[in-house]
Amino acid sequence: MISLRRKTDIAVVGAGLVGSLLSIFLARRKFAVDIFERRPDMRTESVAAGRSINLAVSTRGIHALKKAGLDDDVLKHAVPMRGRMIHPIEGQLAYQPYGKDDSEYINSISRAALNKTLMTHAEETRLVDIHFNQKCTGMDIDKGIITLFNEPENQYADVVANIVIGTDGSASAIRQDMCKQKSYQCTESELDYGYKELVILPEKNGEFKLEKHALHIWPRGTFMLIALPNFDGSFTCTLFLPWEGPISFEKLKTPEEVGRFFKEQFPDAVPLLADLEQTFFDNPTGHMVTIKCAPWNVEERVLLLGDAAHAIVPFFGQGMNAGFEDLTILDQCIQDHIAQGGALYINRRSRENEQETLSRRIQEGSSGWARVFDDFVAKRKIDTDAIADMAVENFIEMRDKVAVPKFQLEKAVEKILQKEFPGSYLSRYSLVTFSNVPYSFAMKAGIANDEVLAELCADITKPEEVDLKRAQTLLKTKVAPLLEQHSEELFVSAR
Ligand SMILES: Cc1cc2nc3c(=O)[nH]c(=O)nc-3n(C[C@H](O)[C@H](O)[C@H](O)COP(=O)(O)OP(=O)(O)OC[C@H]3O[C@@H](n4cnc5c(N)ncnc54)[C@H](O)[C@@H]3O)c2cc1C
Repeated sequence: MISLRRKTDIAVVGAGLVGSLLSIFLARRKFAVDIFERRPDMRTESVAAGRSINLAVSTRGIHALKKAGLDDDVLKHAVPMRGRMIHPIEGQLAYQPYGKDDSEYINSISRAALNKTLMTHAEETRLVDIHFNQKCTGMDIDKGIITLFNEPENQYADVVANIVIGTDGSASAIRQDMCKQKSYQCTESELDYGYKELVILPEKNGEFKLEKHALHIWPRGTFMLIALPNFDGSFTCTLFLPWEGPISFEKLKTPEEVGRFFKEQFPDAVPLLADLEQTFFDNPTGHMVTIKCAPWNVEERVLLLGDAAHAIVPFFGQGMNAGFEDLTILDQCIQDHIAQGGALYINRRSRENEQETLSRRIQEGSSGWARVFDDFVAKRKIDTDAIADMAVENFIEMRDKVAVPKFQLEKAVEKILQKEFPGSYLSRYSLVTFSNVPYSFAMKAGIANDEVLAELCADITKPEEVDLKRAQTLLKTKVAPLLEQHSEELFVSAR
């Protein structure tokens, strides 16, 4: 049975990271929001936090948290990661700093703790109501009606909303209904790799068993293990492995196979991993997908944000950061609209007077939201497409290129250029992670960097042979003019 339950001005579907922070941004502008979340309340019930136990938050994410006044609250429970610690099968660990100095680092935070903090702050605004156990099963886009299923009560309900914002993640129910619209474009490219989370517990005295301020990587050509520190002294490890093939999840079907594989490939991690075989089979194996769709909005009626609009593979640590940056940019579009004298109001609508509302909307024109949404999508899509492509490239880089001597030479020369020409050479990683420049610009600058590196490395075999004079000229002609375009957004520290 479906009951017509309620009406709402702005319905946000999904109280994950992006949905919760979005509602705080909207409440700060005095809009009332109802969030409908599929899961129970994770603050009072034990709920799996979903994908990846911890996440790296960097400049773009922090910038959005700062705008919402939450950066200090969130970062006090973060563990700074200042570089990568590479674990070879044999031999010495190798440490590679992330930034030009100690001021540039990424932060490991607990997904669940962050989500809980955001939900609590949202509710504290008193303009946000979060409704749990409300799984959206679909949306009638023309009528602005979302259908919700309350699993514990086995009950469906309809909600009539003037504006619906889908922040329901990569498998978004809202996006699926948008896909039914005529000439809607959507591609979902699944990676032929899966991931599995494992854990390294803290020492008995609570100390970290590995270097605390690093993201640990065990790169093995076609697969890898990584570990991020948690605030409680543990590490969450993630194994990225092909689904099929000679070394793959399909070959790890028994505890013996898992134990043997880890002993061969990650010998120094084995004594640290807690209940390896048990955890391996208890934990689910996750999928990774890139989603590109267009448009993200239908007039003012519906808008997609975060993973619902642009899920990416996790190899740049930017999915959540990009979702948070959506909010900074959307908020800026609202600000611009208001600054230009535009109004923003809610076109009240209900099922009963649907026809009347539609004709009134035609007479009155847009409430302003359609303009804001159009402006946001026009500005933002090019950048999320760029980070989606860069994340896949980074995956290929980590998987195939790291072992290639030419690539290693170019990376070593890149380090020299960063040191010798601070501010004139910024790696693509730095531009993505430690600045707020548009992702599409980081991609463009990365291509220019690659050209410079290829030229400088064409006739050398060792990094110290690099011709610094030639480097200076190349940077001046190929890179500097680009960097000047975004000089203001470039030098932002990690916090
Ligand atoms: C292994 C891995 C590692 C990652 N590491 C990083 C990292 O280091 N840094 C980073 O920035 N990003 C990282 N990401 C990406 C990041 O997890 C996502 O980009 C981020 O979670 C997106 O937030 P979201 O709110 O858009 O979606 P989600 O976090 O997926 O939240 C969606 C919410 O909607 C709810 N929901 C779903 N369907 C419905 C429905 N039908 N009805 C109602 N509610 C619904 C869900 O329960 C959830 O609460 C990683 C991802 C993976 C898989």
